[in-house]
Order: sequence, then structure tokens, then C-alpha cells
Amino acid sequence: VVDAGAIRSWLGLFAEEVGSHVDLLTQLDAAIGDADHGTNLDRGMKAVSGALATADAEPGVLLKTTGMTLVSTVGGASGPLYGTFFLRMAGSASDADSLDPDAFAAALRAGLEGVVARGRAQAGDKTMFDALAPACDALDEALASGATFDDALRAASVAADAGRDATTPMLARKGRASYLGERSVGHQDPGATSAALLVATAARALS
Ligand code: ADP
Ligand code: MG
Ligand code: MG
Repeated sequence: VVDAGAIRSWLGLFAEEVGSHVDLLTQLDAAIGDADHGTNLDRGMKAVSGALATADAEPGVLLKTTGMTLVSTVGGASGPLYGTFFLRMAGSASDADSLDPDAFAAALRAGLEGVVARGRAQAGDKTMFDALAPACDALDEALASGATFDDALRAASVAADAGRDATTPMLARKGRASYLGERSVGHQDPGATSAALLVATAARALS
């Protein structure tokens, strides 16, 4: 089950991974955006680590703190999107002390729906949606077919990585990259790349 300690481990690992991939995320954004995705998210996740250090709380409160901190520190497109993702996860987690695998999958799905509600991205638009949506689908399918939580999270991470890779040939239809039109083709989407890190760290921290 996913309790407060597990959520802390997950967000801590994600902060570390973002920190060690700042240059990659920024280079990807330099190609089809404004070269700030790595620094944006790194600033946000460092602020989250600080905010969570003093928070003593159940999963829902930790996730809400994360979302509010990202909204107020990241800016750009990804701040409100990741912020909404975690705020919707928090709403789904409510005041439970821990989430069982199905409840965690439902919270992740709620987060994805928040991203869509805010950014209106659809499959194939070359955004973080293209990594997150396949991960949610894979997690749901694995759990429904009786997989262990470990295996289901690993399947979700594999799906997120594949979704991230699949953004390379896509034509961007949302965000700054969409201003480039055809010139956005042939570049991996930075937000899908960070989203795949989010799912990969869930598989490491929560299983
Ligand atoms: P900005 O584009 O404002 O500089 P970032 O560089 O931090 O913000 O984030 C860019 C990422 O945000 C993109 O790579 C894409 O994955 C994601 N993104 C942009 N617009 C949307 C949207 N409408 N829906 C989902 N994701 C989006
Ligand atoms: Mg940018
Ligand atoms: Mg920007």
C-alpha cells in the first residue's frame, strides 16, 4: 500500500531524478520550446522537497502541498499542469492514511484527468499526456489482470517510456512547441520526458 512514507519516497526520488536530468530536459525544451523545462521543474521540486520536510501528514495532504508548491513556483505551462496533476491526486486520495493499488491507480487517473481539464491535450498532441495516459492505462490493465502492484507499476513505467519515445515523430499541437508546426517533428517532448521520470520513480519508490 501507498502510505505517507511511500509518497515522500516517491516525490523525493522524483526531485532527485529531475535534478540529475535538468540539462536533458532543458536541451529537449531548447529544441522545441524556450529551454526552461529542466530549470522550471527542478526549481519546483526543490521547493516541494522543502515544503514536505516540515509537513507531517497523510498522503492527500502531502500531494496537495506538492501541487500547490508546483503551481506557485514552476510557472510556464508545466507548473499549472503538474500542479493540477498533484492537486487532483490529492482530491482522489482524500484523507485516507494509505492507498491500496486500485486507489493509487485511481488517484493517478484523476491526476491525468486534471491535466486534460487544464490543458485540453489529446493523445498524439506531443505533450506529457502522451507518457501519462499510457502509464495509467497499463497500470489499470495490469491490476485488473491480477498483477502484483510491483509488476503493475513496472508495466506503467515501460508504457510511459514508450509513450515518451513515441512523441519524437509527433507534430506538436499544444504548448509552445505547437508554434513550430512541422519543425516540432523529430524531437522528443520535454514534458513527456519528465512525466516518464515521474512514473519510473513511482515504480522504484512504491513497489
Ligand atoms: P513552457 O512551455 O511554458 O516554457 P515548460 O517548458 O516547463 O513550460 O513545459 C513544457 C511542456 O509542457 C511540454 O513539453 C508539454 O509536455 C507540456 N505542455 C504544454 N502545453 C500542454 C498542454 N496544453 N497539455 C499538456 N501538456 C502540455
Ligand atoms: Mg519551456
Ligand atoms: Mg517557459
